[in-house]
Amino acid sequence: MTPLDEAQARVARDISVLPVVDVALADARGLVLAEEISATEAIPPFANTAMDGFAVKAADTVGLSESNVKSLPVAATVAAGAVAPRPLEAGEVMRIMTGAPIPDGADAIIMVELTTPDGDDRVELRAEVPVGNHIRPAGDDLQAGTAIFGPGEELSPAHIGVIASVGRETVKVHRRPRVGVFSTGDELTVGPAALQPGQIRDSNRPSIVALVEEAGCEAVNLGLLRDDEAEIESALRGALGDDAATPVDALVTSGGVSMGDFDFVKRVLGRLGDMNWMQVAIKPAKPLAFGMLMGTPIFGLPGNPVSSMVSFELFARPSLLTMMGRSNIRRPTVTALAEDALLRPPDGKTHFARVIVEPEADGAWRARLAGGQGSHQLTAMARANGLAVIPDGDGVQAGGRVKVMLLN
Ligand code: AMP
Ligand code: MG
Repeated sequence: MTPLDEAQARVARDISVLPVVDVALADARGLVLAEEISATEAIPPFANTAMDGFAVKAADTVGLSESNVKSLPVAATVAAGAVAPRPLEAGEVMRIMTGAPIPDGADAIIMVELTTPDGDDRVELRAEVPVGNHIRPAGDDLQAGTAIFGPGEELSPAHIGVIASVGRETVKVHRRPRVGVFSTGDELTVGPAALQPGQIRDSNRPSIVALVEEAGCEAVNLGLLRDDEAEIESALRGALGDDAATPVDALVTSGGVSMGDFDFVKRVLGRLGDMNWMQVAIKPAKPLAFGMLMGTPIFGLPGNPVSSMVSFELFARPSLLTMMGRSNIRRPTVTALAEDALLRPPDGKTHFARVIVEPEADGAWRARLAGGQGSHQLTAMARANGLAVIPDGDGVQAGGRVKVMLLN
């Protein structure tokens, strides 16, 4: 058996980051920047008010309070997007809305809550405000010419907003990987039709497509293939060859890579690909077929539903993130108190238990089993939000400590 870290290192050797392309900012979330973004203008571009209220000269408010109010004329109203018609004079105010530019001559804002209308065109001020009160200066977020983001940064929603605020509509990023997904097995069917004897429904393809999308990639659903060498070969060639409509950057298959008589994926990949057949020292998901097929990485995941998801987590997901240019490709882990015993026999493997892990009021994490732990019992995977990593040995007693990989 190959130790997990060796198997992961073996896979990582063949994975490289995808080329840089120009992408519409609206399509760039989760992608990794491949250029420097600078502010061409100051943000905000002009001094503006942080509050709805009145632009004043602070000197006109000296000594004012709830018991010493002053009534002043309202010379104009300045909405966001407008500018004051003239400079503010001493002894007057201008009504102003959040985001509107500070009128020339004004040096403070008094918020509307500290004023009272006095007829239609006057207002009573009920507080003293200092110079600069509620004024957001030009360049308060970014000075013109500042470098903001650089290569390697993953674009979050806030990054997208900042980049839009400096007027950019496209960005240079590493291409979003297109990942082909197909499942294989004569026993598989799809949809509500009554199951025939021996049939089960295909659950791997939908869950792997969802995992691919959750990783930030584009999934290409290549369908369900029969256990038939010719059908599998033509599907692989169709997804990868020169005549492929839009070739994929990686392929993920499920089923057909074990030791059974009808494991035809294994035969076809053995013939066409440059494959590593690994027995990884983990449970579930021991068998892994990883290799290069016509220059494209292919992950032949085991068919058991939990195994295929765990194998995706440990091998395919980090690879796809690397292709996207991410440097942080591992799920975060926490140390949790085991509420249930996580026992296992020594067998040379690292076991991954499906657990529900939650921080308690005291801040410490607690992990409990999410349900049946068979590799066919997908409901526990659905309830779990973590995989407890149980090293070889007898396992962890209730009350013991266990490392948990967080899945979301
Ligand atoms: P295999 O890896 O093809 O030998 O399949 C191992 C087990 O996983 C068998 O019980 C299959 O029926 C089951 N299996 C394979 N593919 C799928 C799938 N796409 N959805 C659900 N179960 C599957
Ligand atoms: Mg099969």
